Amino acid sequence: MDEHAVIIAGGGPTGLMLAAELALSNTGVAIVERRETQDLVGSRAGGLHARSLEVLDQRGVADRFISAGQVMPSTSFGWIPFDVDGLPGRHSCVLALWQKDIERILAEWVDELQVPIYRGCEVIGFAQDATGVDVELSGGQTLRAQYLVGCDGGRSLIRKLAGIDFPGWDATISHLIAQVEVTDEPEWGTRRDANGVHAFSKTGEGPIGVMITEQHARATSDPTMSDLSNALIAVYGTDYGVHSPTSLTRFTDMTRQAASYRAGRVLLAGDSAHVHYPVGGQGLNLGLQDAVNLGWKLAQVVEGISPDTLLDTYQAERHPVTARALRGTMAQTALLRSDPRTEALRDIMVDLIGMDEPKRYLAGLATGLDIHYDLGEGHPLLGRRMPDLDLVTPDGPIRLFTLLHQARPLLLDLGTPGTIDIGSWSDRVQLIEATYDGPWELPVIGLVDPPAAVLIRPDGYVAWTGDHAQTGLTEALTTWFGP
Ligand SMILES: Cc1cc2nc3c(=O)[nH]c(=O)nc-3n(C[C@H](O)[C@H](O)[C@H](O)COP(=O)(O)OP(=O)(O)OC[C@H]3O[C@@H](n4cnc5c(N)ncnc54)[C@H](O)[C@@H]3O)c2cc1C
Repeated sequence: MDEHAVIIAGGGPTGLMLAAELALSNTGVAIVERRETQDLVGSRAGGLHARSLEVLDQRGVADRFISAGQVMPSTSFGWIPFDVDGLPGRHSCVLALWQKDIERILAEWVDELQVPIYRGCEVIGFAQDATGVDVELSGGQTLRAQYLVGCDGGRSLIRKLAGIDFPGWDATISHLIAQVEVTDEPEWGTRRDANGVHAFSKTGEGPIGVMITEQHARATSDPTMSDLSNALIAVYGTDYGVHSPTSLTRFTDMTRQAASYRAGRVLLAGDSAHVHYPVGGQGLNLGLQDAVNLGWKLAQVVEGISPDTLLDTYQAERHPVTARALRGTMAQTALLRSDPRTEALRDIMVDLIGMDEPKRYLAGLATGLDIHYDLGEGHPLLGRRMPDLDLVTPDGPIRLFTLLHQARPLLLDLGTPGTIDIGSWSDRVQLIEATYDGPWELPVIGLVDPPAAVLIRPDGYVAWTGDHAQTGLTEALTTWFGP
C-alpha cells in the first residue's frame, strides 16, 4: 500500500495550492485527481484578488501569474465598479486571468515541487483510525495517509462521507453557461430583464459563449441541451439552433458552508467547505486562502512539531472570515435584481461606493486585504497580514515577502540588534535583524505605530508584536510553532 503523510482529494486550485504549501515544508503529500489532465473545459473563475497575489508573492511565484494575466485597477460589488488600487500594498489590483490558466500555472509549480498526482482516478471511500486514514481509489488501489484533505469541490464526496453538515441557503437564481455552435446569428451582448441577465459573446473563431438566467431556480445539477434550448426560447423566443456544446454547466446562488472543517483526520478546504454565487469573484480566492492557512499547520502536526490541536485553529480562523465573504456575495446577489425597489437601493449603493470610507471597506472585503484572524487583543497588526516591507538587513536590502518563500516562520527584529533571543525555536523560526524607515499603513485601517519586533507565521499573518522585553513571545512561539 502506498503511503503519504497527507493525501489531497482533488487537484483543482485549492488542492494544488495546498500541495505546494506542504511540499515546501517537505511534507510527503500526494494528490488524487479525477481528471486525466489539468485541462479545464469552459470558463469558471476570471481572476485573482490582491491577497491571493500576495500569498503567491510570499512563495515567489506571483510573477508567473501576473505575466500571463492583465492587471486591472478595479473590481465590483453587485456589478457596481470601484477601484481597489488606492489600498496600500504591492498588488492592490485585480489580475484578470482565467481559471484554466491559473490551474495550469499552479500545476506546473506543483510539478516542479515533485508532488505525485494519481490522475484519472477518484477517491471513492475512506476509513480513519487512531493513526491514519485508508483512502480507497476507483481503480481498486488503497492509499494510506496520516491526514486526508477534501479539496474535491462543491459536491464533495469527502464532506458527505465524513458526515459533515453543509447548512445554508438554497438557490433563488440559476444560470446555464455554455460554449456552443449556433445555426442562426444570436443577439450579441447582454440583455437584462425582470428575471436577470442573459448574454451571448464571441471571441474569435470557434464556439460562442452563452450565459442565460433560467426562469425558475434549479438545483446545482448537470444540465442538458434541452434545458439550454428551453431557457433560450423563454427569453429570446428562439434557441438560435444551439448545438455541439463543448461545455455546459449550471451555477446557482446556493450558499452553504460546512458546519465543521474537520472530522478527526479528515479536513475540508475550498469549495468542498463553502459554495456561493460567483458574483464578486471570491470562490477560487477563498480556496487559496484556506490552503495557505492550513498547509503549514498540517505540515507541523505531521512533523510532530505541534500537537494536532493546532489544526483546530484552521476552522477557528477560516470559518468566520469565509462566512463574512459569503454574506457579501448574498448581499451582491440581492442587488442584482431588477425590480424598482432594488434599482432604488442600487442607486444609493452607487452613491455610497463613490465615497472614500465605504469604498475602502468594500475594497478590503473584495481583495481579502482586510482579513483579520482573531488572535486576541493587542497591536492592530495582530492577526492581520504582514505588509511586504522594503527591509535593510546586514546582508543588504530585501523585500519581506522574500523571507517567506520557503514557508518558514519569521521573527523580525527591527529594534536594537542582538536583544531578542528565541532560544530553542531557532531551529524552526528565522530571526532576522533589519531596519525599515517607511510608514506602517494597513489596508482599511490606515497608519499604525511601528512595532519593534514582529512574529510572522508562514502564511504571512502576524502572531505577535513586541519589543526586546519579549512580553508574551514565549507563549506565542509555543502556540504557533510547538513547545
Ligand atoms: C461560472 C463561475 C464563475 C466563477 N468565477 C469566479 C471568479 O471570478 N473568481 C473566483 O475566485 N471564483 C470563481 N468561481 C468559483 C471557482 O471556480 C471555484 O471556487 C474554484 O474552482 C474552487 O476550487 P476548488 O479547488 O476548491 O474546487 P474545484 O475547482 O471544484 O476542484 C475540485 C477538483 O476535485 C476533483 N474531484 C472531485 N471529486 C473528486 C474525487 N472524488 N476524487 C478525486 N478528484 C475529485 C475535480 O475533478 C476537480 O479538479 C466561479 C465559478 C463558476 C461556476
